[in-house]
Amino acid sequence: VVQVSNLRKVYHGRPALDGVDLTVAEGEVVVVLGPSGSGKSTLVRCIDQLEKIDGGAIYLDGELLGFAHRHGALRPLSEDDIAAQRRRMGMVFQQFNLFPHWTVLRNITEAAVAVHGMSKGAARERAETLLEKVGLPDKANAYPRQLSGGQQQRVAIARSVATRPRVLLFDEPTSALDPELVEEVLTVIKDLARSGLTMVVVTHEMEFARQVADRCVFMVDGKVVEQNTTEEFFEQPRTERLQRFLSRFN
Ligand code: ATP
Ligand code: MG
Repeated sequence: VVQVSNLRKVYHGRPALDGVDLTVAEGEVVVVLGPSGSGKSTLVRCIDQLEKIDGGAIYLDGELLGFAHRHGALRPLSEDDIAAQRRRMGMVFQQFNLFPHWTVLRNITEAAVAVHGMSKGAARERAETLLEKVGLPDKANAYPRQLSGGQQQRVAIARSVATRPRVLLFDEPTSALDPELVEEVLTVIKDLARSGLTMVVVTHEMEFARQVADRCVFMVDGKVVEQNTTEEFFEQPRTERLQRFLSRFN
């Protein structure tokens, strides 16, 4: 579904991503781990085209993102074309970014109706199904400020799934939450993973990573240092760097 090839991203002359390769297959859940500043957010932001890349390529279902071959050269796509590509992905951030003056229902349905051309009735029905799935069947008419952080994040997840993205990207979806609200959000993400969604998840929650990931990727200094199936990753880390990283959580 997603293929990242030799990806480079430079900020002020310093590489934040330094030749990253990553493939995510249909239905696969890939968790990205690594110390602060290793480039995890930059990676998912590049996939979602929130950042301009400085080298390499990203493909979604085989289609090059952000650029097209024209007259024998690689040219950036127009904003409209990039927006169309971005519509095929969903992203969930640390901060939930719900519109405060819209109800939960409208937050979930707006993009589906206004951008994806879904009928209002169909969007509403889907939103209701999703609200049930994320454990908030009675909150359709509430406003974000009336919800806890964990509830707001579950609404944000429902919103990102409403448009049936090909891949769902998460950047530390629970790190802005009070500890007692983390579990309810992780449970929702695990349920979605089990339903077959393709996901890339950046998280610091090790137990969750173990439970949800098919494969784990370990980044340091903008590079993928090690990646493996989840069990091998945790049970038999090959590099000393990963062993040290994991030992902090035992
Ligand atoms: P954390 O676990 O703290 O969220 P991260 O792995 O997500 O860290 P990134 O946010 O991707 O790390 O940052 C990678 C590197 O790029 C860091 O050195 C960071 O300072 C730098 N960086 C990220 N965003 C910017 C930006 N907008 N401008 C300049 N430098 C940036
Ligand atoms: Mg980050």
